[in-house]
Amino acid sequence: MILDDIKKVTVVGCGTMGNGIAQVFAAHNFKVNLVDIKQDFLDRAVAGIGKSLDRFVKKEKITEDDKNAILGRISTSTDLAVAADSQLVIEAVTENLAIKLEIFKKLVEVVGDDVVLASNTSSLPITQLAAATKHPDKFVGMHFMNPVPMMKLVELIRGIATSDETFNLIKSLGEKLGKTPVEVNDYPGFIANRILMPMINEAVYANMEGVGTVEAIDEVMKLGMGHPMGPLFLADFIGLDVCLAILEVMHDGLGDPKYRPCPLLKKMVQAGYLGRKTGRGFYTYDR
Ligand code: NAD
Repeated sequence: MILDDIKKVTVVGCGTMGNGIAQVFAAHNFKVNLVDIKQDFLDRAVAGIGKSLDRFVKKEKITEDDKNAILGRISTSTDLAVAADSQLVIEAVTENLAIKLEIFKKLVEVVGDDVVLASNTSSLPITQLAAATKHPDKFVGMHFMNPVPMMKLVELIRGIATSDETFNLIKSLGEKLGKTPVEVNDYPGFIANRILMPMINEAVYANMEGVGTVEAIDEVMKLGMGHPMGPLFLADFIGLDVCLAILEVMHDGLGDPKYRPCPLLKKMVQAGYLGRKTGRGFYTYDR
């Protein structure tokens, strides 16, 4: 397959990441199938994409007509079988190995042999996900950053079997989307989270041990280190459940106690304080 063959993309999962990924593809003239388990979730995601596009209209980066055309390129479904007419599938569902494996097993039954399968996983082994498919050479990690329409980076992760052809195709695709792809090998947490999550985890420990308040910790990292947002605010933005899942994968996969998730992070996830998406995390939010 060559880049011009990719006309339609299926994005599985329409949460924080899936709706951003769908938006970026549709904004670059690709048709998009957006799939999730409930139509409610899909309607909410499309409304969210509309709101995000409104901000681009307001800044005069796109017109109202562009916005409508972008939305017109996105269709929604609760049936994975719609993936049959796409040349690329990007999975962006909950960070849970069993759920992702199940999706890839179903996908191989509906997509053609040429189709490239990609996962937006933050930390799970690309090699293991690829092994659940018929063509592990046509499998790649495509790790977008949040918020997808704003962030330039996409980590491209090579599984052990990913072919150069697949890797180069997806690299050109990333560039076509206006992103900067960075090549990464398949180890837990890849590059971004291998470095980011220990910092977030340490910030949670510092808060739990009473070294500083949430505000103090974030203020120190913003003003002292020049970070655009503090680690606890960023954790809320990512989702505390997502942070915990990534730390657990790194802890299990690398076996080093330095990745042990902070008990306070676990407790907050158990309480349903997942950050911005549930209205409460280290901070509270209007929803
Ligand atoms: P999220 O919780 O916001 O959304 C996950 C979506 O997956 C939900 O809408 C859920 O209904 C859907 N889903 C669950 N099971 C499904 C199934 N069987 N079929 C179809 N849809 C299903 O999660 P998110 O933050 O968007 O994360 C998605 C993926 O992206 C994860 O692998 C995560 O690690 C990764 N990621 C997240 C971030 C971030 O900042 N949140 C950044 C980069 C990558």
